[in-house]
Amino acid sequence: MKPAQFDYVAPASVPEAVAVLAEHGPESRVLAGGQSLLIELRYRTTRPALVVDVNRIPGLSQVTVEDGSVRVGALVRHAQLERARFDDPLAELFRQVAPYVGHPPIRARGTFAGSLAWAHPASEWCALAMALDAGIEVKGPAGPRTVPAASWFRGAFETACLPEELVTGVRLPRPPAGAVAAFAEHRRTHSGFALAAALVMLRLAAGRVEWVRIGLANAADVPLRAVGAERLLTGERPEPELFAAAGARAAAEADPPGEPHAPAAYLRHALSTLVRRCLARAVHHAGLP
Ligand SMILES: Cc1cc2nc3c(=O)[nH]c(=O)nc-3n(C[C@H](O)[C@H](O)[C@H](O)COP(=O)(O)OP(=O)(O)OC[C@H]3O[C@@H](n4cnc5c(N)ncnc54)[C@H](O)[C@@H]3O)c2cc1C
Repeated sequence: MKPAQFDYVAPASVPEAVAVLAEHGPESRVLAGGQSLLIELRYRTTRPALVVDVNRIPGLSQVTVEDGSVRVGALVRHAQLERARFDDPLAELFRQVAPYVGHPPIRARGTFAGSLAWAHPASEWCALAMALDAGIEVKGPAGPRTVPAASWFRGAFETACLPEELVTGVRLPRPPAGAVAAFAEHRRTHSGFALAAALVMLRLAAGRVEWVRIGLANAADVPLRAVGAERLLTGERPEPELFAAAGARAAAEADPPGEPHAPAAYLRHALSTLVRRCLARAVHHAGLP
């Protein structure tokens, strides 16, 4: 199907984009990488009167490493994160996760911030943002504000972003030095969305889990941070039995959307297994058997 007719504008700056969005509100839609929006336009599941293409705005394509955080600009593509080389444990997590987002042409155009704005429950980046307490930076006519990931995701494809606001970047607190990362995903086809995915970042000290974060994708209608499983692990010796118990706890915290060929019980089992595997892998990277 072809998209319904719409007007198109390509503002040259953030203030210009915000002014256009303020004028047209819910009648307008931001176009970033277009890897989700163009499909919606073609299927006519969304019919904006105006598409606001932000790709010509300079200064939004950088990953910036600051003292306490890493900032991902609104036009940073998935492929940039696949090649992340900055000196922080987050770079390792980006490199592990990015190859699972669609396939190379999707990753060449699609953006990290666009994924958070679209809020697909199976999005790997949304799970990462949730696990690491990202702050989503938006600008609207009322000025800038930063929304914590925990209040950003309101439901499947629903966020706290107002129609007149533009996401300008995402700020991720830097994990403690020496933290290690692991990611695992179960999906039907190589370029399909996750049936279940888990990511772990942890740091060991004196042979025990000192700090840990666990994120889950397609585990509910919003991305999840498995706080109960994190509590179970913190302060404990990293042993296979503990990994299995933490996997089971994480799965119990999830409420996965069952499908005819992948019922909820199957998805829970997959989440439990993926968390267990990630923990074992992360601890192995950290240098313990
Ligand atoms: C075949 C295929 C496979 C895919 N597989 C995966 C996968 O495995 N995992 C995954 O997570 N995703 C997957 N995707 C989606 C892909 O990652 C998209 O790139 C991503 O979801 C959206 O990013 P985008 O930059 O393309 O956003 P767009 O498509 O341009 O926009 C998506 C939505 O977000 C809004 N938006 C975008 N940027 C902003 C902004 N700066 N401010 C305000 N609103 C904004 C738009 O208005 C629109 O509503 C897949 C897509 C396809 C076509």
